[in-house]
Amino acid sequence: MQLIVQKFGGTSVGSLERIRDVAALVKKTSAHQQNIVVVSAMAGQTNKLVAMSGQLSARPLPEAYDMLLASGEQVSCALLAIALSEIGVKARPLLSFQIGIKTNDFFTNARIEHINGELLRKHVDEGFVPVVAGFQGVSEAGGHQRITTLGRGGSDTSAVALAVAARADRCDIYTDVDGVYTADPRIVPQARKIDRMSFDEMMELASLGAKVLHMRSVELAAKWGMPLRVLSTFHPDHTGSTFMKESDLLESPVVSSITSDSSECLLSARITENEARFPGRLFRPLADAGVNVDVIVKSSPDSHGHCTLSFTVPRAEGDRALALLAQYRPEKLLENMAKVSIVGIGMRTHSGVAAKMFEALERLEIPVHLITTSEIKVSVCIDESQREKAIRGLHHAFID
Ligand code: ADP
Ligand code: ASP
Ligand code: MG
Repeated sequence: MQLIVQKFGGTSVGSLERIRDVAALVKKTSAHQQNIVVVSAMAGQTNKLVAMSGQLSARPLPEAYDMLLASGEQVSCALLAIALSEIGVKARPLLSFQIGIKTNDFFTNARIEHINGELLRKHVDEGFVPVVAGFQGVSEAGGHQRITTLGRGGSDTSAVALAVAARADRCDIYTDVDGVYTADPRIVPQARKIDRMSFDEMMELASLGAKVLHMRSVELAAKWGMPLRVLSTFHPDHTGSTFMKESDLLESPVVSSITSDSSECLLSARITENEARFPGRLFRPLADAGVNVDVIVKSSPDSHGHCTLSFTVPRAEGDRALALLAQYRPEKLLENMAKVSIVGIGMRTHSGVAAKMFEALERLEIPVHLITTSEIKVSVCIDESQREKAIRGLHHAFID
């Protein structure tokens, strides 16, 4: 029998009724495969916990914050194990310490360093369905154990990491859509499901804001050659989306999907040509303070020998970044910025894709503030109020 890791997201376990449905699905599939189950917190729970902490502190104690956030998955893990055993499935609820999910101590964004795959398999070999709380691990840095979390959306990464550690045959991510679409179907109703997609495209999409999969889950699956699918919990018989190496794909669409991210703001500073030549001095204070800088664009010097340096940082860190760089008198150009991206491996071999994107945005009268490209994507930073219009317009231009 094949060993499959099944991961169920927040909406899939969003109520007791849904937890019963998930239990029934696990039981049904257990007839022809062995399962290891990974769960997210019930929909909305993690946000509630974030908000509770926010009422007590703007900078909560990191290890307490991660312990708090991880508790959402502990609840759904225990509830699903109860629902499974109620219908006669031998289930074992498991937290990270029980199967040695070790991480570094980067609270809120920890990386998995090791999982005791044998310990996990032992439960399977004993005839149990392990039900593992996703999104978390344990750090032993500094000599004592502390709970860590893997970054928002990180239970996908837990699932793939557990699949690799247990040498599973596949990892199935069950969610509230039946696959990866050409755009978020909540924004573009006529978006189409993509049956087969390269790992590279999915990684790019995930890193650019398509939250259907956590970026590191795709990275891990690609690295370890772990077969990965996205399926719907509500229509488990639909075919879903499968990811593979680019060389295994027959077609390479020029633009396969459009995505967006609204988590950043746009800052800019007018600096001297010399400062612009050695920008490390400017970015060091941000790096030391743990502020992540994303897009960076530097203009040529103007007639006074000054350059404009524009860059984006997480919206929640905007004011802190301004304070850290006070000596350069930066300003916030766009508080509510959205980064809209088109992604496709066919871009490598096609020219004119960026021009077509910019023309489509011009027709919609959407001004572009910054542009950034890679081999397989073009991103533009625009005003957040124009985000949905831009996505629909670009979907029409490239995919409809
Ligand atoms: P889960 O709780 O199951 O992990 P998420 O909310 O994290 O689910 O991810 C699923 C959601 O991702 C979908 O409901 C959909 O709105 C969103 N999404 C964004 N971009 C895409 C896309 N290109 N294809 C499919 N879903 C997408
Ligand atoms: N519950 C966590 C979150 O909301 C992890 C996850 O859903 O994957 O981010
Ligand atoms: Mg998710």
